[in-house]
Amino acid sequence: MEPRRRLTSTRILRFLAFAAFPATLLLWWMGTLPGHHLPEIGREIFGNIPGALQAAFYVGMGAFLSLTLYLFAERSRSWERGGPESRTGRWGERLKNMSAGLEMRTLLRDRAAGLMHALIYYGFVLLFLGTVILEIDHLLPEGLKFLSGNFYKIYSAVLDGAALALIVGVVWAVVRRYGQAPWRLRSKTKAEDAWILTVLGLIGVTGVFTEAARIAVDGRPDFEVWSFLGYPLSSLFSETAAAGWHQFFWIAHVVTFVWFLVVLPTTKLRHMLTSPANMFMAPKDRPKGAMKELPNLMEATDIESIGASVITDLTWKQIFDTDACTVCGRCTSVCPANTTGKPLDPREMVMKVGEVAASTAPGRISSPVSMDAEINIGADSLFERVTSEELWSCTTCGACDEICPVNIEILDKILDMRRYKALMEADFPSELGKAFVALENQGNPWGLSQQNRMDWAKALDFEVKVLGEEGVDSADYLYWVGCAGSFDDRNVEVTKATARLLHEAGIDFAVLGPKESCTGDPARRSGNEYLYQQLALSNIETLNDLGVEKVITQCPHCFNSLANDYPQLGGDYEVVHHSQLLMELVANDSLDTTAATGKSPEITFHDPCYLGRHNDVYVAPREVISASGASLTEMERNGTNAMCCGAGGARFWMEEQTGKKVNVERAEQAIATGADEVAVGCPYCYVMIDDGVKELGVEMKVRDISMILADSVFED
Ligand code: SF4
Ligand code: SF4
Repeated sequence: MEPRRRLTSTRILRFLAFAAFPATLLLWWMGTLPGHHLPEIGREIFGNIPGALQAAFYVGMGAFLSLTLYLFAERSRSWERGGPESRTGRWGERLKNMSAGLEMRTLLRDRAAGLMHALIYYGFVLLFLGTVILEIDHLLPEGLKFLSGNFYKIYSAVLDGAALALIVGVVWAVVRRYGQAPWRLRSKTKAEDAWILTVLGLIGVTGVFTEAARIAVDGRPDFEVWSFLGYPLSSLFSETAAAGWHQFFWIAHVVTFVWFLVVLPTTKLRHMLTSPANMFMAPKDRPKGAMKELPNLMEATDIESIGASVITDLTWKQIFDTDACTVCGRCTSVCPANTTGKPLDPREMVMKVGEVAASTAPGRISSPVSMDAEINIGADSLFERVTSEELWSCTTCGACDEICPVNIEILDKILDMRRYKALMEADFPSELGKAFVALENQGNPWGLSQQNRMDWAKALDFEVKVLGEEGVDSADYLYWVGCAGSFDDRNVEVTKATARLLHEAGIDFAVLGPKESCTGDPARRSGNEYLYQQLALSNIETLNDLGVEKVITQCPHCFNSLANDYPQLGGDYEVVHHSQLLMELVANDSLDTTAATGKSPEITFHDPCYLGRHNDVYVAPREVISASGASLTEMERNGTNAMCCGAGGARFWMEEQTGKKVNVERAEQAIATGADEVAVGCPYCYVMIDDGVKELGVEMKVRDISMILADSVFED
């Protein structure tokens, strides 16, 4: 039996392309049926347009609509080369996400650009809907026609408003792109930008003049005053010349729209359709902070390649979203690597992947935005365009994904390519190799003995329980200390402060001691999935054997791995960051903060990427700081837009040889607030920001939130 043919996007688009032409001819025929008369307040459809022109209109419109859909079907063939990825279910969330895009809420994060886009988009959409309404009314039988009387007056005013919005928006866009020309627009301005703005502007202008000439042909009836643009302009046309001008502008308007139908699928203007679609597909089947799941590499025997090196290694969604890019450059403007002069530009990353996809597509399709003439892509390899230096510059901070107004997933692409580089080509910075060896041999990237993991507890005046040791079968919380909290001198103080606070609040907690290994975050985020799985599976076995249910940790990287990555390998735990539990303990009076010195230092908080952007925890650390009696002052880049310290994605273990140091840049931003102290909530951030401040020679304290809170709870 023949296998059932799948309903794919290409097949749907091809069917629509095939059906569009006869469907348009059908509309033409329906419009010629008898029974049409001119309402008292209204307009004659195709008035003053000879039959031959009407025929050319329907035939041309049908043909070009078919062409547009066919060109989208060709792009769809390219998307379908990608691997499977589920983007179904959670329909409510998807619709909400898409409507945020359609309402320009994501674009309005940059007010000027958002407003400009809104004027163009809504202006165009309203004009298009107006034309559809006109056609529907044209086809309806006499008794059902509705475009007359007061409705017609309102309709006329709304469409003139839409045309005005479109024209103003286009003029504004021209001024922004060619007059003000901010770097992120200037650097990517291509000839197609001029075409797009010209075609959109001409649609608005020719539409208004067609209307004005038609009103003149109709003898300027009073009710047409509702066309507040067309009516005054109609006085420009004399009674004798009006008919000729009307036909001229009508033809110009139709030709411009046909031109639009060609520009839409062949230039970046396609994002009018692909961007909302991409936003609809944004919700993933994994938590925000989790990396794409891979099979268990310890057991799999038939895996030929890991990660992404050619287009078909990406998923269909990863190929599709390169076509949704508006080339706005916001991702680049917030990228810590790019800001500090590293060879990484997230917008370029999207473009480059899109260029390889377009160059190797089964049909002939244009790249996401026109490629520079000197770029030549000969093979289906992502590394024809993407370099190792770019990939290893990424701190995996997620700022690019977070700010992208159309939800393009840049970080996943980088991480998939890192996976290939690390595991298939062993192409990674040599310093990282040392960390890999230490992780493999000692279970921590410092390469220190696991037997010393509990040394921090010796200084405490109470005993810390070790889960699994004699008499310690369970505890309410497993305190996951993390490698930095165990071995790094500065972070050992954080561990001690956290343990004291938990003890003071009467929390029943225990640690794993030497049984705890690195969660594997640095290995996974640097592409070494094999090493990650080794570490993660061993930890999961330990945790599951000990019956652990709730985990507390001060490290956002451990937090993220345990909460978001481990479920992929069978580790399901309720994980809280220490800021969240400390906030709760202060709120329910389990911690008494009256021992505060009475001073109210000004503190600025540096959001850790893996707590904030990757897990949406922003309030808890700030509440803890406020509970300590300090006053909080924010850096210019805070919350979702906070800048990375430079350590994520295993960058902590790599040399920073190019450009300015990311931690120094961030330290400068902290110092610029004039605060007395910088609070951190991550062991890597602690080291990076503290080093940055010291490198700048500034006397500014840097401490973890638990140390700050401990000051107000304990008198010593
Ligand atoms: S994740 Fe951060 S460092 Fe990496 S490309 Fe995006 S913004 Fe740049
Ligand atoms: S990826 Fe997103 S933020 Fe970056 S240029 Fe494209 S649309 Fe703009």
